[in-house]
Amino acid sequence: MQYEAVIGLEVHVQLKTKSKMFCGCATEFGGSPNTQVCPVCLGYPGVLPVMNEEAVSKTIRTGLMIGSKVAGFSKWDRKSYFYPDMPKNYQISQYDLPLCAEGAVEIKLDGGKTKAIGVTRAHLEEDVAKSTHFETTSGVDFNRAGVPLMEVVSEPDMRSPEEAFAYITALKEILVSGGISDCDMEKGQLRCDSNVSVRPIGQKEFGEKVEIKNMNTISGVRRALAYEIQRQTAALQKGEKVSQETRRWDDAAGRTFVMRTKEYAHDYRYFPDPDLMPVVVSEEMIAAARKLLPELPEAKRQRFIKQYGLPEYDAGVLVADTALAGYYEKAAVASKNPKAISNWVMTELLGKLSEAKRTIGECAIQPEHLTELVALVDGGQISGKIGKEVFAEMFDSGKSPGLIVKEKGLVQVSDTGALEGFVNEAIAKSPKSVADFKAGNEGAINFLKGQVMKLSKGKANPQLVGEILQRKLRGG
Ligand SMILES: [Zn+2]
Repeated sequence: MQYEAVIGLEVHVQLKTKSKMFCGCATEFGGSPNTQVCPVCLGYPGVLPVMNEEAVSKTIRTGLMIGSKVAGFSKWDRKSYFYPDMPKNYQISQYDLPLCAEGAVEIKLDGGKTKAIGVTRAHLEEDVAKSTHFETTSGVDFNRAGVPLMEVVSEPDMRSPEEAFAYITALKEILVSGGISDCDMEKGQLRCDSNVSVRPIGQKEFGEKVEIKNMNTISGVRRALAYEIQRQTAALQKGEKVSQETRRWDDAAGRTFVMRTKEYAHDYRYFPDPDLMPVVVSEEMIAAARKLLPELPEAKRQRFIKQYGLPEYDAGVLVADTALAGYYEKAAVASKNPKAISNWVMTELLGKLSEAKRTIGECAIQPEHLTELVALVDGGQISGKIGKEVFAEMFDSGKSPGLIVKEKGLVQVSDTGALEGFVNEAIAKSPKSVADFKAGNEGAINFLKGQVMKLSKGKANPQLVGEILQRKLRGG
C-alpha cells in the first residue's frame, strides 16, 4: 500500500518591537541573563499588563500580507500551565478570537508550479523565558519572557518535507520584507513546531497525528519530517498503530523521541484575561497597516526579471534578502546595464562579504559607486580585469572607483600611439610567435596579446591591441 504524509506547521515569530508585549522592557537579543526584566514580565502577583500597540499593528500587517481576514474584535486569554519558564502559571495568548484568520502563503514547487498553503490563523501572545540546562543545575533567563510572539498556524496542506521547507522559506521572506521580524532562527526569532500524520493514498480521513518540537533550523524541520513520515509509515505497514503524542527532534541523533502524550485545549483552561481590555481593531488601524505593506517577494522577483532583464535565478537570490534587493536596486536603477550590476553583486560582492563575514548593511561600497564602476568598464575606461582590482580596493576603502582609478593611474590605454609602441615591443621580443602566426597558427596571436597586456600593466585596451596586432602581422 502507498502512503502519503499530511503536514501542518505552527510557526512562532518574535516581532521586531522595541519593547515587550505587556511591559516596557527592551526586547534586544544578547543581553546578560535577567537584565531586561521587570515585575510584569517576571510574573509578580498583582502587576498589570499594558498592551503593546506596535505588536498588534505588525500582526495586522502580517494578516494583510497573507490575505487574512483581520478581526474587528479580538481579546486576550490566559493559557494555564505550570513550568519554570512561566512563573505566573499562565501565558497571555489568544484563544477563540485571534487577530487574523484564514489566509494563504504561496510556495514554489519543482518545475515552476505553485501551491497555496492555507493559513488557519495568526494570533499574538507573549514569549516565555528561556531555560538552559547545565550539568547539575538549570537556569532561566527572563529577558525573553514577554517578547511579542506571533503564532502562524497553517492548514494541514503540505504533503512532503520539501513543501514544508518551501512554506517556511516563503513565510520567512514575507515577514522579513514586511519588517515584521528578522526571523533569525539562531536567535530564536523564528521557531517551528509541526504536526504530521500519514494515511493510505486515496483515504480522506487523516491518520493519527504526531506533534514534533525542537526543530531549530529549516533544514532540521525537513529532516525531522522525513524521519517521522518514514517511522509512521513503517509502523502502519507492520499493522501497528501510531499514537497521538508529542515528540522531540534530536538533530544530532537524527531521530524523534517521545516527549509526552498529546495535551488537549481543555487542559489549558483558557479563559479571558480580566486584566486586559479586548482589542477593537478600527478601520483606521487596518488602513494604517495597509499603508505600510511592502511589495511581496514574489511580486518583486517578477518585477526584477521584467524591469532589469534578470534571469530568474539572479532575481531569486537578490530578493531572498530584502537588504540585498534594496542595495541592488539602488545601483541598478541608475545604471544602463542592470544585468552587469547583478553579476558584480552575485559573484564579487557576495563572495567578498562572506569572506569578510560581513552583511550587506556593513558593506563599504556605496550602491552608486557600483553603478559608476560598471559604467567605467562598459565605457572602456578600464578593463574588466582592472575593474576587479578597483572593486577590491572599493570594498576595503569605500572610495569611489573614479578616485581609485585616478590615484592608481589605472585608466585604460586606448591611445593608438602608445599601444603601437607596446605592440612593436612585443613583436620584437617574440619572433617565434610571429613566425608561428605567419605559418598559419592563428592562436599564436594570443601570446602576443598577453605580452602587450603585460607591458602595459594590464591597462591596454584589449580590443584595440587585437586590431593593431592583426594589422601589423598581416601587413608586415
Ligand atoms: Zn518587563
